[in-house]
Amino acid sequence: MSSSVVPVPAPNHGLERQAIIDLSAIANNIRHLRQACAPAQFMAVVKADAYGHGALQVARTAVAAGVQWLGTAHVSEALALRAAGLTVPILAWLHTPDTDFAAAIAQNIDLGCSGWELEHIVSAARTLGRPARIHLKIDTGLGRNGSTLANWPGFVGAAMAYQAEGVLRVVGVFSHLAVADEPARPETDQQLQGFCTAIAILEAAGAQLEVRHIANTAATLSRPDTHFDLVRVGLGVYGLSPFPDRTSAQLGLEPAMTLATQIASCKDVPAGQGISYGLNYVTAEPTTLGLIPLGYADGIPRIATGGPVRVNGVTYPVVGRIAMDQMVIDLGPGARDRLAEASVPGSLLGATAELFGNGSGGGPLVEQWAAAAGTINYELITRISPRVPRRYVGGADETAAGEIATASIAESGAGL
Ligand SMILES: *Cc1c(COP(=O)(O)O)cnc(C)c1O
Repeated sequence: MSSSVVPVPAPNHGLERQAIIDLSAIANNIRHLRQACAPAQFMAVVKADAYGHGALQVARTAVAAGVQWLGTAHVSEALALRAAGLTVPILAWLHTPDTDFAAAIAQNIDLGCSGWELEHIVSAARTLGRPARIHLKIDTGLGRNGSTLANWPGFVGAAMAYQAEGVLRVVGVFSHLAVADEPARPETDQQLQGFCTAIAILEAAGAQLEVRHIANTAATLSRPDTHFDLVRVGLGVYGLSPFPDRTSAQLGLEPAMTLATQIASCKDVPAGQGISYGLNYVTAEPTTLGLIPLGYADGIPRIATGGPVRVNGVTYPVVGRIAMDQMVIDLGPGARDRLAEASVPGSLLGATAELFGNGSGGGPLVEQWAAAAGTINYELITRISPRVPRRYVGGADETAAGEIATASIAESGAGL
């Protein structure tokens, strides 16, 4: 084979579509949050594939950053962490009658227990001949899982009887807050009161608790009186703010996920060109269009027309409907002339397009996409689909392609 046919690496090699996960940002966020909650212990919540960031990579990073606990919703998620070799305490709290409690007990996974699970856990522990470790959950007002306060004394009595029998140990008590992201509301105080009542009843029944925990990210940052022995932090680990009126930067956090792709087509069209299904957007004058190869199958909500896309240092709103695989930005009249003036090749084909990231250099934020879709940052990051490869930078799992990916984003600052 002659050297003339060796393929030239494409610009932005490896960046066709990527969620770039900055593990050093995750480690920094954890260090920052641990300072805010010390001396309480820290549980990194890594449910839902670590809010879309990759459960194993995030869990390993979190443990290296000193977290004492990992948290998942499902036992299956906790088992995957154990199978990958993570040995720190893990709590799983959302179960069904088909949950594999025996596997959880065998793998030393702590189980949240709201009521009906008690008998299932006991029977699994008996079969295994090994005691379960459980955290009793009290519903202090959220109205989801957890024992009601009315049922609490009976529930506590049953659990303590099983503990006396040796089939389980009640090692924790917990609850979940409903409005901690709105610090002015009074219900958090009411929930805290109920929590303290529940703890008093449990301790009076003889429980020797390792951990009492109720704080999520919002409470960890805004209510030190909710920290108790342990905080359960999800969103903040990923560098995002749970408060509608406070940014990541204001909280000292750095968003860890960057969603980027490259322009798949760049073409001139006349005035009157309709864009995407429904032809809801029509060009007012001759202009240049950029095609972005990400759509609702990749987790970008179809409703989020107007969401920001950053190309060459300029942010454009998505125009027309977002389709399954693609969406369109209008680069504006005279785009080619401005490109030429900026000494950028006359086409943006292959140029990096960033949908959201850490906001450096005025880049777009996931909160802008959430606003465009009428939802919250939590939903955007957790719904980026498996079709978008994750690329890890800033950590032990960093790859050469990852370095290229970040470099190409950093360099795209020329301006159109
Ligand atoms: C998801 C979850 C958390 C983490 O909440 P954030 O707002 O992301 O910090 C904590 N506790 C429970 C029970 C959860 O389900």
